[in-house]
Amino acid sequence: MQILHALSDLLYPPACLRCRAPLTRGGHIFCRACRAAMPKVGAPMCRRCGAPVAAAFDAQVDCATCRRRPPAFAIARARRSYTGPTAEIIQGFKYRRRWRIGRWLSRDMAACARAALPLQEIDLVVPVPLHWLKRRMAGFDHAGQLARDTARRLRLPHDPRALRRRRWTSTQTRLPAPARFRNVRAAFAADPRRVAHRTVLLVDDVLTSGATADACAQVLAATGARRVIVLTAARTPRA
Ligand SMILES: [Zn+2]
Ligand SMILES: [Zn+2]
Repeated sequence: MQILHALSDLLYPPACLRCRAPLTRGGHIFCRACRAAMPKVGAPMCRRCGAPVAAAFDAQVDCATCRRRPPAFAIARARRSYTGPTAEIIQGFKYRRRWRIGRWLSRDMAACARAALPLQEIDLVVPVPLHWLKRRMAGFDHAGQLARDTARRLRLPHDPRALRRRRWTSTQTRLPAPARFRNVRAAFAADPRRVAHRTVLLVDDVLTSGATADACAQVLAATGARRVIVLTAARTPRA
C-alpha cells in the first residue's frame, strides 16, 4: 500500500485541490495558505444557533435572533464561515461533485461535532433531503453524502429516509429571508416510526438563514422527535 502511495505521488505529485500549489506533507488536500484562509467559527457564539456574537468569550448567551424567535432546533453548529475559499470548495463539492472535498468536509464536521455537540444523546443522523427531481437533475445528493460520511466517522446510525421533501421549493439563495421562511413551511414530512422519541442530528452543507433547518426541526418535533441538533459544514456570516 505504501509503495502504491509513493508511486502515485511520483506520477501525480500531490497538489492543493483549490490552488494547485504543491503539497509538501501528506494527509492534507489543501495547502497551508488555503487552510488558513478558511476560518473556523469560534467563540463567543450563540449557545443555540452558533452564530458569532459580541459577548464575553465564555458567556452563555442567546443571540437577538434566537431570543426574538427561538428556532425549533436545540443547537446548531457549523465548522467554518461560508466565505471566500470555504464557499468555493463547498460549491466545488456540490456542483462539480468533487468527492475528496466532500470527504474532507465530513471529517471537518465530525471534528466539530466531537468538540461542540452532546454526541452521547444523538440517536440518528439525518440529511436535509433534496427534492427527488432536484436529486435526479443534480445526479447527486450532497447533504446525503455529508450525512452518511459524518455518521460513519462518528459511529452513529444514519437514516436518509427519516425525512423527505413533500414539494418543490424554489432555489433558496435567490429569496430574501422572510420569503425563505414561507417557502420552506410544509415542504417536509418525517416518518414517525423512524424519528419518534429520538434525538436527531440534522446535517446540511450550509446554514444560511436557518429557515430550512428550522422547518425540518419543526416537522421532526411535530412527528415526535425528542430533540433536533443541526450540524453544517459552514454558515453564512450574518449581515
Ligand atoms: Zn491551496
Ligand atoms: Zn442564535
